Amino acid sequence: MVERTVRGSHAPLSAKGSDPLEGGRGLFGVRNSRARGPGYACCVKRVALLGATGSIGRQALEIVEAHPELELVAASSGSQSIDGLAPHTQVGGDLTELLERAQPDVVLNAIVGFAGLPATLWALDRGVTLALANKESLVAAGDLALAARERGGGLLLPVDSEHSAAFQCLEGRDPATVATLVLTASGGPFRGRTRADLEHVTVDEALAHPTWRMGPKITIDSATLANKGLELIEAHFLFGLDYDRVQVVVHPTSTVHALVWFRDGAALAHIGYPDMRVPISYALTYPERAATPIAPLDLAAGVTLEFEAPDEDTFPMLALAREAGERGGTYPAAYNAANEVAVAAFLEGRLAFLGISDVVERALASVDGAAACDLTELVEADREARRAAESVLEPVA
Ligand code: NAD
Ligand code: MG
Repeated sequence: MVERTVRGSHAPLSAKGSDPLEGGRGLFGVRNSRARGPGYACCVKRVALLGATGSIGRQALEIVEAHPELELVAASSGSQSIDGLAPHTQVGGDLTELLERAQPDVVLNAIVGFAGLPATLWALDRGVTLALANKESLVAAGDLALAARERGGGLLLPVDSEHSAAFQCLEGRDPATVATLVLTASGGPFRGRTRADLEHVTVDEALAHPTWRMGPKITIDSATLANKGLELIEAHFLFGLDYDRVQVVVHPTSTVHALVWFRDGAALAHIGYPDMRVPISYALTYPERAATPIAPLDLAAGVTLEFEAPDEDTFPMLALAREAGERGGTYPAAYNAANEVAVAAFLEGRLAFLGISDVVERALASVDGAAACDLTELVEADREARRAAESVLEPVA
């Protein structure tokens, strides 16, 4: 990080008074550095934003623009042009080259899918802080990623809302005092439906998420509960918890983002409106917890918290993830790869909604699953699972 003097004129200010980040005193009475006035010296973080054109990427840009102490030094997208967005930009290609050129302090990995893996490993290996939205890379490469973090010695900060919440509930606790981590799931657009109801659902129906506005892949993952399956495995690797200590419950309003039970029978929960700018801001400004424009929940207006068990018969992707996670080796990578193939096929109209879990189940049954010693072996395991999934893909009836 670079010590830099932030001048009053540096901040990209909007109209005074209209923005809670503006004018000095943010939520909870926390003063923003923006309001500290000319000459205030703070620590500038150089941010590389990968996946800048996506749902997380665009919200991250908003957070970066609101904080003069966050400097966007690099940005990437999969295919859209992003000329001029940052001093270093790249569309597609090997993103480790971009990161080498930019030498950021923080990498926000908001790429979707296995394609995010090289960037995740680049940051972890070098001890560069990794703000991780790209859960697929940690799910697929869990053991390799943790070994890279060990070597690099840097921070791995989850951006996924449930994991950011869990991280905050767990931070500073003695692991021996933690009983169970509870991840909440909205249940997606098909909560309460039966398998028969889901036989002919359309792509548009599956994309209509009740509480979150996200990219298409994660939105489909939320409808099948594969997203919570990926998050279960993500939590296992992030927090070192065995699978029997991570519970998933459906919580339709997505108000409680995660909850940790301790051995004395008490629980800590993280609550708030579902808004990804909160965990993005938390990770980018860690450990400062900068103010955001998101209002606190209006408790006086009446907030009802409902929880229920997930319907694992209608949504088999959750149990398949638990099984893949417990088997270990490259089964989580195969789960992720087969799911990516199946979701792409569903979005292209080549596969029925219920076919997604069938494809993943059959692919998982046919792969080797042996642990990968290095990245080459992991990439081969990913390819094997993709081939297996493609071979069982059947056209929509
Ligand atoms: P998105 O589809 O909106 O955006 C994906 C971004 O990745 C785009 O900028 C795209 O250009 C880029 N990209 C796609 N393929 C690429 C490739 N092969 N190489 C390089 N870049 C590529 O997705 P999103 O909803 O922003 O999700 C991004 C990640 O964050 C996913 O892993 C998702 O699971 C996770 N996440 C998203 C949310 C959310 O609210 N959107 C919440 C939690 C976690
Ligand atoms: Mg999540």
